[in-house]
Amino acid sequence: MEWIAGLVHAGTLLLVNALLAALSSAFFFALYLGHPRVKHLLGVLLWGISYAAFAAGFGVLFLPAFHVDFPALGLVGNLLIDAGAILALLAVNVYLELRWRGLWVLVPVIAIALVETVLVLKEGENLRHMVILGSVLTGLTTVVTGMAFWQCKDQAQRPVARLAAVFHFLWAAVLLVRLSWWIAHPMAHAEQDPTSTFGLLSRMVLTWIITPSLLWMLTRKLDAELIRHASQDPLTGVANRRVMWEEGQQRIAASHPGSACVAALMIDVDRFKSINDQWGHDGGDRILIAVADTLRRNIREKDILARVGGEEFMVLLHHAEPGAAKEAAERLRRAVEEETITLSPGHELRCTVSIGYCVSVRKEKSWRDVVVAADKALYAAKRAGRNRVMGADDSTR
Ligand code: GH3
Ligand code: MG
Ligand code: MG
Repeated sequence: MEWIAGLVHAGTLLLVNALLAALSSAFFFALYLGHPRVKHLLGVLLWGISYAAFAAGFGVLFLPAFHVDFPALGLVGNLLIDAGAILALLAVNVYLELRWRGLWVLVPVIAIALVETVLVLKEGENLRHMVILGSVLTGLTTVVTGMAFWQCKDQAQRPVARLAAVFHFLWAAVLLVRLSWWIAHPMAHAEQDPTSTFGLLSRMVLTWIITPSLLWMLTRKLDAELIRHASQDPLTGVANRRVMWEEGQQRIAASHPGSACVAALMIDVDRFKSINDQWGHDGGDRILIAVADTLRRNIREKDILARVGGEEFMVLLHHAEPGAAKEAAERLRRAVEEETITLSPGHELRCTVSIGYCVSVRKEKSWRDVVVAADKALYAAKRAGRNRVMGADDSTR
């Protein structure tokens, strides 16, 4: 470690750390204030404030280089850096919506900060005490922050979040080395401390890696949101027409003699207009949500459910023979018929659906043909009295 101390000047590292943190802070503030889709992300604002605290802390520690000094300057600088670490922990909790699971750590952390303050005020600044207490405090916060990153549930952001977690654990290991050195050298003076340069250098690398990681996570989150908006029906949360058409066309294109059939079910809520008239448009919307939920619960994981019109849904079955398609349609019809929908206490209703289905057995139909045939079968089911299933006979040869 000594060779690092000889290589880089600790004061230079303080300055670089302060500037890097200030730059990161400016990035996050600019994103939060200027980007319309980041405005609601409180975690990003907290990251900005956290880095501002780091920048202020390193800046205060650098002040003696400008011959500015005041009592307990070291303590103020260190407490600002501690505040930065705590704010980073809060930021990741808010950003990843972790429900404050790791925040028990704030109790020992605040206790250590108080002990450090009391010690400095009573005995003056003792570097050894400050390094030991500061390393335990920042180490604990850093490990819990790393664990929070590790728990990221969002698939799109998880790989980057895990990378950020690993670097937090490495930074905690550096703090452990620093702590151990000071415990092992009780009589050491500040000038003999080789861990300070090493610690500052590692902190610089951490900021260098964490800031782009956070920005990368944010980009992945926003991209995933865009993709979701482009493929999801906003009312019911099921897929939209675009997804159904893309999937259907792909399945037809990929099918060949001997491969699985492509089976599409066209589902329409019966007499929905009168439901709307009776319960209002809001009530109608809630019934659509309930019907979508019932359908979703009654299909297999690989089947696709989409809302393709006002009160029209489609299901694309994964691997279905004509008999299986009829069975699946009948199961869905029954499930909706049997579901009681509660709009408000005492206001319950049931509704029914009519279903037309079409199965393309040997790629003899285009996707358009399948949809048209299923639609025709649906209208046949409507004409035959509703709440029933009809197949497009010509497609089930
Ligand atoms: P049928 O049994 O023949 O299907 O009769 P229907 O009343 O369901 O069919 P129709 O096509 O006449 O009416 C569909 C109604 O669905 C009309 C429209 O106001 C309503 N609707 C369409 N989109 C929505 C929506 O997003 N929310 C609500 N609440 N109603 C919608
Ligand atoms: Mg309709
Ligand atoms: Mg209808």
